[in-house]
Amino acid sequence: MNRIKKGDTVEVITGEDKDVRGEVLRVLDKGTRVVVSKVNMVTKHQSAQRAGRSQMQGGRIQFEAPVDVSNVMLVCPKCDQATRVGYTVVDERKVRVCRKCDAVID
Ligand SMILES: [Zn+2]
Repeated sequence: MNRIKKGDTVEVITGEDKDVRGEVLRVLDKGTRVVVSKVNMVTKHQSAQRAGRSQMQGGRIQFEAPVDVSNVMLVCPKCDQATRVGYTVVDERKVRVCRKCDAVID
């Protein structure tokens, strides 16, 4: 079970984007890397030709590069703190819990 899921809010705990929060847009490589909204933005130079039929006129495009899941912490929707994730079983289903306030996150 992945610690971080698509749609979660996470907080970056290291690097250039430290303390930035964003929504998880994608989970990659079996949960080891995540793409987080507005985190780890990189600029790619794209030629007009490669832009093809898209609306881009070429030039620079910015997008989020994946970050290692160990560089982010889940933000608990209940207590709004970056927290480690625990697990518990509710109705025979494994769910995540906030280590700070014990809220079930799922
Ligand atoms: Zn909490």
